[in-house]
Amino acid sequence: MSEECTHDCSSCGQECGDRTEPQSFLAQANPESRVKKVIGVVSGKGGVGKSLVTSLLASAMQKKGYQTAILDADITGPSIPRMFGISYKVIGNENGLIPATAANGTKVMSVNLLLPNETDPVVWRGPIIAGTVKQFWTDVCWGDIDYMFVDMPPGTGDVPLTVFQSLPVDGIVVVTSPQELVGMIVEKAVKMADITHTPVLGLVENMSYFECPDCHAKHRIFGDSHIEELAARHGIEASARLPINPALAAASDRGEIASADTADWLDGLTAFIEAKHGVK
Ligand code: ADP
Repeated sequence: MSEECTHDCSSCGQECGDRTEPQSFLAQANPESRVKKVIGVVSGKGGVGKSLVTSLLASAMQKKGYQTAILDADITGPSIPRMFGISYKVIGNENGLIPATAANGTKVMSVNLLLPNETDPVVWRGPIIAGTVKQFWTDVCWGDIDYMFVDMPPGTGDVPLTVFQSLPVDGIVVVTSPQELVGMIVEKAVKMADITHTPVLGLVENMSYFECPDCHAKHRIFGDSHIEELAARHGIEASARLPINPALAAASDRGEIASADTADWLDGLTAFIEAKHGVK
């Protein structure tokens, strides 16, 4: 050991035999998984459309010819299987659990695919929930996946932290709504990404406006947009706006989100993901 050693490798500049690398909490993926990119979809609070955006992004990338997957980490409020119309239970083999496959080919794992009834509540302690999310990475045979989208629980609690630490997250997409308060809360999500050194790939302002089907005027039901301001403040290059669209809500209720018409709302963001995190 060097005489100058401070016994704290995070701050000590000395090279000595006792030097330890910073501890990695990354969990080993299942041997049957080959996932090229992992993208987290986060929001500051619930109900802003995070699961809907996760489903639309996965479907849009699947349509472009990529194999996509959704890891539903929103354990207490899982809604992905229903949006894709998946109602059967997943089974396992000696290597692990086999994810469900939606009609468009997107693979899905969610706690709802394991519970006897989808209306059964998950009344579990935080560490159990976080452990389940980790198992969706370590114990699920995902196969060959180009882009995996992780539908994170809202906020900056235990489970999002577990995902950031345990999964090799390449970047996150932050979903917000135009309300000021949500903008403030979303800043916390962006700052959490900073703290965990995860790049923010894009911002999605959901329920940004409502377009009148008759006169095509755009009404800002939840107030003015702050997305450009927010993106500029945090140096985020890609942003998208999704309108309030009853057809989207109906498609997700019918389990047909994979074939919902999303016009060109997400084109900029998906092109940015392809450009920054290409897999081909
Ligand atoms: P979160 O995951 O943030 O809790 P969800 O994605 O589950 O939110 O969305 C909450 C509800 O709002 C769902 O019923 C969804 O279909 C609906 N919804 C979300 N975004 C839109 C939108 N842009 N237009 C219409 N309905 C929407």
